[in-house]
Amino acid sequence: MPAKIRYEDRNEEPLLSPRERVKTFREYALGYSVSLALDEAQRCLFCKDADQRCIKACPAGIDIPSFIREISEGNLINAYKKILEANPFPSICGRVCPQEKQCEGSCILYYDVVRQRKNKGLAVGIGNLEKFVGDFIRVSGIELREEREEPTGKRVAIVGAGPAGLACAYYLSKLGHEVDVYEALPKAGGVMTYGIPTARLDRSILEWEIRRLEKLGVRFFFGWVVGRTVSLKELLQKYHAVFLGVGAGRGTLGIKGDTLRGVYSAIEVLTRVGLFKANQFPQSSTPIRLGRRTAIIGGGFTAVDCALTALRLGVETHVLYRRTRETSSARDEEWDHITEEGAIVHWLTQPVEILGDEEGKVVGVKCIRMALGEPDESGRPKPVPVPNSEHVIECDSVIFAIGQKANPIAYEGIEGLELTRWGTVKVDDSFRTSVKGLFAGGDVVNGGDTVVRAISHGRRAAEHIHKYLMEVSQ
Ligand code: FAD
Ligand code: SF4
Repeated sequence: MPAKIRYEDRNEEPLLSPRERVKTFREYALGYSVSLALDEAQRCLFCKDADQRCIKACPAGIDIPSFIREISEGNLINAYKKILEANPFPSICGRVCPQEKQCEGSCILYYDVVRQRKNKGLAVGIGNLEKFVGDFIRVSGIELREEREEPTGKRVAIVGAGPAGLACAYYLSKLGHEVDVYEALPKAGGVMTYGIPTARLDRSILEWEIRRLEKLGVRFFFGWVVGRTVSLKELLQKYHAVFLGVGAGRGTLGIKGDTLRGVYSAIEVLTRVGLFKANQFPQSSTPIRLGRRTAIIGGGFTAVDCALTALRLGVETHVLYRRTRETSSARDEEWDHITEEGAIVHWLTQPVEILGDEEGKVVGVKCIRMALGEPDESGRPKPVPVPNSEHVIECDSVIFAIGQKANPIAYEGIEGLELTRWGTVKVDDSFRTSVKGLFAGGDVVNGGDTVVRAISHGRRAAEHIHKYLMEVSQ
């Protein structure tokens, strides 16, 4: 008998109420219970053409119906192992991936064939199921022995411990290579550690994942700034191959008034809170001063995370974005969450100048209103200024959450290394750069994307590095 199509009754994951969650930096999405997960898994139709639907839309290419089938049959260890074939970090991706734009956006239940309309939000809860499986394995304390091939005697250095570097390290180590990770900061995780707020991704999850890598034999060297503490050239001499996964973590400012007191880059705010616990100041040694009211400029993941952070610091929070919600790269549910928590979002609003007082302190942002015009080169409607629409939004601080750029410290001055005109590192289909033995992936290649895209680069780069090590570098 064909499976019954259950469009309407998607199981949503329980959340803390907006009033409760705005008071805490603890995770507010509470995850599926076993019964919710089993019920949700049974909504999947295990489509024969899933490789053209959810699987194709997952940047890591997880075999989604297979892992969901394992859940529906109660085989959670098999479900976990199935996901690991393509993505080593299900607990993380289940929390941070924009699933509605990826796998869930292509789920057959998303499009109601009977009523010929998009059933937004009614896709199978693929992300929640992925998170459930990862969390189940971690919390239950099941010790899974992760198999490793015989040692190859080849040594690989990974520069940067973000999702690209960690995924590359994981798969290379499983293939039997010796892997050392060099990370500038005192902790691994990249943006997942210093960017994404703990309210969305508890750091104990990252710590558990790092321990898994260490058990596989991966060695971490923290506080090593490649390009300063050790040069890339030295690493290329010492190792058989090097993977560059240094991200695009350099924030940009860029309008009149951006040197005033009270102007921050998003990364500074998020790092102060996420890594150095500024929310606990003076118990911690790092302060953060956003004043009574802050204006966040931008409309992507970073802007939403700054809003989430500012709200939890008790600051009246305004987000100024020159486009609309539909064209934003942040997740729908996150816009819902921050507005429920009290953020005021000014759509189609372009800041043109930061205003200061005579002491050089921020007092407001001068903005103009925008309207949507013809599509630009990205295919999104281009915002155009509305005449005579100047207005001022008063605030005590401004956070720039726009325009992340690659930080070239690791690779500047490396002879023969080709860059793109955006300053990102150029690679071919095998993630090879123009320098022999040097591979790259993640944001340093694509200029800023998603955690899962970085993981996918790391995994595929590992496959090509393995091939290179076994064929070329004998
Ligand atoms: P990164 O995560 O940036 O990691 C690079 C690492 O390299 C860092 O640890 C850095 O310290 C290290 N490094 C840099 N230079 C050196 C050097 N010279 N020597 C040694 N180490 C070095 N994506 C999502 O999918 N979902 C989200 O919810 C989401 N939220 C985001 C929130 C914020 C605030 C930001 C900024 C991005 C967000 N993204 C999100 C995007 C996502 O985090 C990135 O696409 C992803 O982290 C890129 O991974 P990566 O490994 O390439 O680089
Ligand atoms: Fe299941 Fe949706 Fe994928 Fe079909 S498209 S296999 S229903 S998750």
